[in-house]
Amino acid sequence: MARAVLEISADAIRHNIKALKDFSGKKIIAVVKADAYGMSAFHVCSVLEHMDEVSSYAVACVEEGVELRKAGFKKDILVLGGVLRGEERALTEYRLTPVVSHKEHLKVIEGLHVGFHVKYDTGMGRLGFLEEVIRDSRIKGVLTHLSSPLDRDFSLRQIEEFKKIVKDYSSVDIHMESSAGVIYRVPFTTHIRIGLAMYGEKPAPDYPVALKRALRLKARIISVKYLPSGHPVSYSRTYTTDKKKKVGVVAFGYADGLTKALSNIGYLYWKDKPIKILGNITMDMTVVDLDNTSAQVGDWVEIVGEHQSFGDLAKLAGTIPYEIMCNVSSRVKRLLV
Ligand code: PLP
Repeated sequence: MARAVLEISADAIRHNIKALKDFSGKKIIAVVKADAYGMSAFHVCSVLEHMDEVSSYAVACVEEGVELRKAGFKKDILVLGGVLRGEERALTEYRLTPVVSHKEHLKVIEGLHVGFHVKYDTGMGRLGFLEEVIRDSRIKGVLTHLSSPLDRDFSLRQIEEFKKIVKDYSSVDIHMESSAGVIYRVPFTTHIRIGLAMYGEKPAPDYPVALKRALRLKARIISVKYLPSGHPVSYSRTYTTDKKKKVGVVAFGYADGLTKALSNIGYLYWKDKPIKILGNITMDMTVVDLDNTSAQVGDWVEIVGEHQSFGDLAKLAGTIPYEIMCNVSSRVKRLLV
């Protein structure tokens, strides 16, 4: 029996995909790279595989694509990170669709019978062709990526830039909007590329798509005791009790994915009650304030779920939800519920 569990709700994922499809009117490329942002690509794709709203999966690299194919998933798999020498065979053998964003990628697939998408850089400054227009009968899609989807002016500039580029293409998939980007309802794209919103994590507080939380991260209490007043807690003694206090130890630390930045500022939840993190989060354990609770050894504590999202934790820790999600370690058991 695992002491730390990440539950992924199949119903909520289905609801979110349908809501995003209804809002945008476009098919969905589900971004499941980095093991579906740490949420288990196997579980997530097991849900998406049966949904017509989802046309394909997007992964970062060829290895991730091969893994999905080997697991039996049949939808198209887009490899966002392109293709390098040595990866040609995997492309054809596992029917992967590379996103070509560099001349070298084109050389690698020279003579190969593979469809591909071509990426343009309209302001991200990462992957993508800038001035060159790529023409090839094997092109199945054209894409770009928004660098700052919450910045309206800059995003509109990227959209205008992309509009000029796609004029040169016909009968291909066209995509640029990520979760936050769907608000622009770009009239000339055919697909949206969605990761975060699929899990019910809102990219912005006023997000217009009604999402359901799909993730619940929880761990068990392994010790409960009373510390006397003036007693230090955890490494480096960054917290000291100011009165006799009931404290618990939760079997979840930074090795499980709880960033140390939340030490002394974050909260977990026992039932509906917020319980403050006391002292430094350690590798495998976190000490919490259990005063005024009847919490006992063996009880479950919620880290993410009904009461707070990955986004809430990220905000407090000064990072982004993606990073906290991706850092949930392999020690945490993933369950599709
Ligand atoms: N498209 C690309 C190229 C990405 O790198 C990502 C995420 O990192 C996405 C789409 C999906 O973004 P989001 O999770 O914000 O929907």
